[in-house]
Amino acid sequence: MTKILVTGGAGFIGSNFIKYMLDKYPDYEIVNLDALTYCGNLENLEDIEDNPNYSFVKGNIMDEGLVDVVVSSVDYIVNFAAESHVDRSIEDPQIFIKSNIIGTQVLLDAAYKYQIKKFLQVSTDEVYGSLGPEGYFTETTPLQANSPYSASKAGADLMVRAYGETFDLPINITRCSNNYGPYQFPEKLIPLMISNALEDKELPIYGDGKNIRDWLHVYDHCSAIDLVLHKGKIGEVYNIGGHNEKQNIEIVKLILKELDKPESLIKFVKDRLGHDRRYAIDSTKITEELGWKPKYTFETGIVETIHWYLDNQDWMEKVKSGEYQEYYEKMYSKK
Ligand code: NAD
Repeated sequence: MTKILVTGGAGFIGSNFIKYMLDKYPDYEIVNLDALTYCGNLENLEDIEDNPNYSFVKGNIMDEGLVDVVVSSVDYIVNFAAESHVDRSIEDPQIFIKSNIIGTQVLLDAAYKYQIKKFLQVSTDEVYGSLGPEGYFTETTPLQANSPYSASKAGADLMVRAYGETFDLPINITRCSNNYGPYQFPEKLIPLMISNALEDKELPIYGDGKNIRDWLHVYDHCSAIDLVLHKGKIGEVYNIGGHNEKQNIEIVKLILKELDKPESLIKFVKDRLGHDRRYAIDSTKITEELGWKPKYTFETGIVETIHWYLDNQDWMEKVKSGEYQEYYEKMYSKK
């Protein structure tokens, strides 16, 4: 039986990935190792918690003893566990170095010790830095991370590459554009704007709102990771993106329209420090080599997603209480 360790599986993409895999491969076993930080939420996995092929281990990927035990029985590792919010990395970079780089290195050591079949590092297009109005990130674009978050992800990517080159560890790295979809923590653009709009609160938008991100539905990210895990050529990097470039302001206006709320809720706030202007992914390699094709268009995916948050306001309320609320008040009271 194939056994996969998914780290960070209680977060947004990891929880979607676990459900995707259990659904597609009923004979695979999945172990979810997650520290349950402020954004790790086991409720994201409620519908599969009784599945006999799924198990959860609460723990930190920096915990060498625990990681050793967990990795000793698995065939594959898919590493999602990370601090993932750029704004938080500007406030407090150190935890990003610890979780994202040291945590990855601890996993790599165990992966090497137990000679696992593949280590897949889930990375981001943000490691490439920022684009001007033209061009796309390819797998050979130099890494030019601009935020402490993206720098920590780039550091982890290089460490994964180094274990591949130095120790022949079978690795892949995926670099995906911005994800949207169900179960995203409401500090990120789309769920934050939906949540504020529903409460008739101001919608804070950085700078002129014209920063461009290349949006992909989380389901399509999961299907790409699945393909790379099974068919990706050892040692290779694969970019993942759906050619859906949108300005932040376009997304916010679309959300307001769908929720029938006025644009007067929009409030432009002081720009994020070091704010990257544009990301856009060239996904030719994964499309041509592995035959990946996204299922969602942005137009259908975003409407479905807005309605998911509308139908799951209980989930949103619970997630927003506590630590996140304090952080939100602190960040946005300064602007
Ligand atoms: P998330 O913040 O929703 O989830 C991260 C999960 O990791 C949480 O469950 C958290 O508890 C866990 N975690 C954090 N530090 C840990 C540690 N030290 N040990 C164990 N668990 C820990 O993030 P997400 O949006 O689901 O992103 C998942 C991964 O995908 C990240 O590596 C991120 O860099 C990458 N990624 C995200 C996007 C995006 O748009 N969200 C795009 C490309 C790549």
